Amino acid sequence: MKVAIVGLGAMGSMAAWQLAQAGVHVEGYEQFGLAHARGGVGGESRLFRTAYKEGPQYVPLLKRSRQLWRELESQTASNLLQLNGGLTIGHPGDEAIAKVLESIQQFDIEHQVLDIEDARQRFPQHRFDPQEVVILDRESGFLRPELAVSAALRRATDLGANLHGHTRVEAIEQRGDGAWLRIDGSERRFDKVLVTAGAWVDHLLPQLGGSLYARKLILSWFPARDIAAFAPERFPIFTRRSQGYFSFGVPSVEGSMVKIGISTPGPVVEDVNAFDSQISEHELAETRHVIHTFLSGLDPDPVRTSGHLDAFSPDRHCVIGHLPGEDRLLVIGGFSGHGFKLAPAIGEIACQLLREQAPGLAVGEFALERLAICNGSAHAL
Ligand SMILES: Cc1cc2nc3c(=O)[nH]c(=O)nc-3n(C[C@H](O)[C@H](O)[C@H](O)COP(=O)(O)OP(=O)(O)OC[C@H]3O[C@@H](n4cnc5c(N)ncnc54)[C@H](O)[C@@H]3O)c2cc1C
Repeated sequence: MKVAIVGLGAMGSMAAWQLAQAGVHVEGYEQFGLAHARGGVGGESRLFRTAYKEGPQYVPLLKRSRQLWRELESQTASNLLQLNGGLTIGHPGDEAIAKVLESIQQFDIEHQVLDIEDARQRFPQHRFDPQEVVILDRESGFLRPELAVSAALRRATDLGANLHGHTRVEAIEQRGDGAWLRIDGSERRFDKVLVTAGAWVDHLLPQLGGSLYARKLILSWFPARDIAAFAPERFPIFTRRSQGYFSFGVPSVEGSMVKIGISTPGPVVEDVNAFDSQISEHELAETRHVIHTFLSGLDPDPVRTSGHLDAFSPDRHCVIGHLPGEDRLLVIGGFSGHGFKLAPAIGEIACQLLREQAPGLAVGEFALERLAICNGSAHAL
């Protein structure tokens, strides 16, 4: 079987590794340089959380991903995932807190619900409100995205995959007995095509009717008065929803800066090809507010900022499936700002589906069919 992968970011790279490992003939195409920073891969670190605020249905995928991250580390002699713990901070009635607790209960995740005085003593880098809940999930930490994607692509190449950077797929079509890609004006036939085009997917597959749309997420890095206080051993990753602000943070990975992000994405990016990764002062306002109000010990001005794209779905859950009547095209996307940690398990599922095997984990909830596609406009069911 000859399979093409369109887009070698988080999901495409892991699928390339899994497919090549299964002995499938893989041709992978990436429009920019391999492991580039415009989409979901740039920005030095990605949170890995197991007690999952997006819902306990993800926990089996997260546990499988953790095993596969370790497998990729050992196959490529690289250090990709550091589990230094993770804090979820919020108010007791918050949906995110409820889902984190549900995940913990259903899957017996090693954790501690901290008393607020204890949280203040142990994590003076945060300013806690006495009404807040603080949950420490010991199975959380952070990933190194550029290293992870490069490692998976290198491993896939070693296992026989042919990967083509700086090669844009212009069109995809299922026709006759094959799936066809147009590249540089000429057509190439494959048995199956995996479309993992991230924020560009809607551009490439107009059949989706705009159901997956590109949005910008911004990251900023701040110096600290005492950088040792923000080292991974002392500063777990965190996600926080306080006073309507959704923020997250990663310890100092290289020993000089602390990364703080805002989980609320920017407006829909209509023209992904004209995307501007620069961050304006206006876009930084929320991050500045978070630094000032909820954290202690960070300088107010970022020393580095960057903007990146991800594809969002209407219900913020990913989609996995075939377009109606196009069983040779498998579409995986819409990870809505939280997909990186899941990538190896999703790559494995892509491999199983392309080989017409039953997926090893339940993914029915993420079926593409839940997005009703009618008259060129799509709605979540
Ligand atoms: C700033 C930011 C912070 C995030 N933080 C986290 C986090 O902490 N934890 C977490 O788990 N997730 C996080 N995410 C989400 C995660 O990174 C994404 O959900 C994930 O990368 C999506 O993977 P993907 O493969 O769908 O898209 P991508 O990784 O963006 O890959 C898509 C690839 O397809 C390529 N492509 C598109 N069109 C074509 C074409 N026509 N021809 C060839 N190639 C093409 C693109 O160039 C791109 O490389 C974050 C995302 C962003 C943007």
